[in-house]
Amino acid sequence: MPRFLFGPAGKPIGFKGDLIASLTYLRELGLNAMEYEAVRGVRINKERAVKLREAAEENGIKLSLHAPYFINLSSPEEHKVAKSIERLNRSVEAAHWMGAYIVVFHPGYYKGLSSPQEALEKAIEALRTVAKYRASIGAEDVILGPETTGKTTQLGTLDENIAMCREIGGCRPVVDWAHMYARSMGEYITSVDHVIEVVEKIEKELGTEAVKPLHMHFSHIEYGKGGERMHHTLAEKEYGPSFEIVCRGLAETGVSGVFISESPILEKDALVMKDVCRRICGERCVAD
Ligand SMILES: [Zn+2]
Repeated sequence: MPRFLFGPAGKPIGFKGDLIASLTYLRELGLNAMEYEAVRGVRINKERAVKLREAAEENGIKLSLHAPYFINLSSPEEHKVAKSIERLNRSVEAAHWMGAYIVVFHPGYYKGLSSPQEALEKAIEALRTVAKYRASIGAEDVILGPETTGKTTQLGTLDENIAMCREIGGCRPVVDWAHMYARSMGEYITSVDHVIEVVEKIEKELGTEAVKPLHMHFSHIEYGKGGERMHHTLAEKEYGPSFEIVCRGLAETGVSGVFISESPILEKDALVMKDVCRRICGERCVAD
């Protein structure tokens, strides 16, 4: 595997046919990853998921799955936690069928709880139930990936996600660079040292397995008070963070990584990222 893989969050915008056929299109473009978006609910059945797996294998596309947005593992309302666990279970099952290596999810919110610590503990407890379910269906191949969230009201700082993964086996923090940048109001992820610090923290706390590969989201992002507002393209230079800084930092650490483009122009910006990394890290860092 080359060090860095690139692909879109969901069906490429330049392809009009079915999602399964779009994997061939991605390969022809020179991309090698795709995140299946179950963000509005896990609706794929087993038959179709298996077809997706076959198409991914044929085209050398590494699949991941983004779980529904309506997940709140730290809700003070027990029925909402139960529903969130159920949505995550369905995500794990679908990921297992399609051969997606990781389920990315936003862990929850602080609202209604006495402290961020309480939210974290509730999320960990819920994730134990998900991990049990995963084992019960023999889906231990699927990693649980809490994503760094973009709003200050959301559970999911890097430290919190690391804490979750310390307690739960088969768990790995997903680094959304844009969210980290937005949440810090443009203060963090502004230097190569910040990027190296993120990677080293994960390695130190969870071991090198957690960055083989590091799963990441990237786009430019607009923020305001409280964090993220909306995603932007890499051509919109008035927004950050700088992809050049991110790739430079990663290249220095020696980790491998999967970059999912969450830009409004999805695969087109995945290609821009690939070009930037090729220039920084060399041909052997990117696939053909
Ligand atoms: Zn996300």
